[in-house]
Amino acid sequence: MNMNLPADVQNIISVLESNGHEAYAVGGCVRDCILGKIPHDWDITTSALPEQVKALFSRTFDTGIEHGTVTVLMHGVGYEVTTYRVDGKYEDGRHPKEVTFTASLEEDLKRRDFTINAMAYNESRGLVDLFGGEADLQAGIIKAVGNPTERFTEDALRMLRALRFSAQLGFEIEPATYQAIKDLAPTLERISAERIQVEMVKLVTSDHPERLREVYNTGLSKVFFPELDVMMECQQNNVHHAYTVGEHTIKAMELIPTDKVLRLTMMLHDIAKPACKTTDDKGQDHFKLHPIKGTDMARTVLRRLKFDNDTTSKVCNLVKNHDDRPAINDRNVRRMIIRVGQENFPDLLEVKRADTLAQSTYLRDEKLAYIAELERVFHEIVEAGDCLRIKDLQINGKDLIAMGVPQGQRIGEVLNDIFDAVVDNPELNDRQILLNMAQSMIK
Ligand code: ATP
Ligand code: MG
Repeated sequence: MNMNLPADVQNIISVLESNGHEAYAVGGCVRDCILGKIPHDWDITTSALPEQVKALFSRTFDTGIEHGTVTVLMHGVGYEVTTYRVDGKYEDGRHPKEVTFTASLEEDLKRRDFTINAMAYNESRGLVDLFGGEADLQAGIIKAVGNPTERFTEDALRMLRALRFSAQLGFEIEPATYQAIKDLAPTLERISAERIQVEMVKLVTSDHPERLREVYNTGLSKVFFPELDVMMECQQNNVHHAYTVGEHTIKAMELIPTDKVLRLTMMLHDIAKPACKTTDDKGQDHFKLHPIKGTDMARTVLRRLKFDNDTTSKVCNLVKNHDDRPAINDRNVRRMIIRVGQENFPDLLEVKRADTLAQSTYLRDEKLAYIAELERVFHEIVEAGDCLRIKDLQINGKDLIAMGVPQGQRIGEVLNDIFDAVVDNPELNDRQILLNMAQSMIK
């Protein structure tokens, strides 16, 4: 086994070794290399103590020094160099009470979560694989190192990590590991929203977002996203649909490009359907106003998981508008672009396509033709340079002040009324015309 370590990684290892320490590339980078993927970062594990690491390299940062991690900077790239450690007693199922450094690589590998993540490599010793990680990689299996019940009791987040790796790699979870997740799922409650968010984002932006189904099947979603359980259990007896809300949601996630905002939007777009469901006398289900209620519910979920405001507002905006279908004409589409935001409009088109393709085939061609037409008119409007924002008007607040409109609220009102007129008739966006219009409005 030859892994071709990057020169800087090799250099860090050599410096540590020539000073009497052991050092290996470890964890995710070893796993990714064996899979033939390019690791996104390189972690190094070493017998050297943090102070010793710091003494050997000119540029270091104390990233997590209390856990033994020092970041070594080389050519602008940071490498995390962590001292071999055993995690102390986990008293809260979240983090070890203390970490103890150890001289044994084996101890360090034993504390890692899954066999595929518990391999180390360096040039002198080659691959160190004490738990059958390479075989599990070849077989496509996520398996806890040691006793899964004990390992998930130490740190409940590992249960969600198992699903996240299974989604990223398309792997199956080994039966005993899976059973332990089902048994211990409620204990995920001890884990902070921030840590859950990290794993969920990796899961939903993976090649297998459909593994979200396992988040439900294992009972994990009940802890931090019970709305998913409700969606999974909500039938849609309606010609437009072929699946439960939950299965439609999962299909839609598979059908949209891999992007955090887009995947989260599909995950949440129909979140309010169960709450908005009514059944008519013919037995057909309807979900009136679900995008509106869904906007609030999506915001609640994203806030609960401590997502940033930018992600939250983008997702909520798309959820809110996902089902809007105005008759297509320039005026309506211009107004729709203004509502959604021009910069978000291409995303909305993706959302609509994925949503449509995840529905039944009833009227599918017509729905797709509608979206294509919406897209065509969108581009036409953008290319025409139509006024889509108040600041695109050929006059501004200063012009109004010069005409004698007093500073304050009135300025905004007049500009808004002018904007309204221009949106419906773009040819009005001419400085002289607008000055005249303003003149007549302020009399
Ligand atoms: P990614 O590609 O997402 O970075 P990774 O395997 O590098 O995958 P990290 O979360 O960066 O995952 O963790 C680095 C390594 O640290 C893991 O490969 C694993 O060996 C170990 N590890 C991380 N989190 C835990 C945990 N909660 N319990 C046990 N070991 C862990
Ligand atoms: Mg990593």
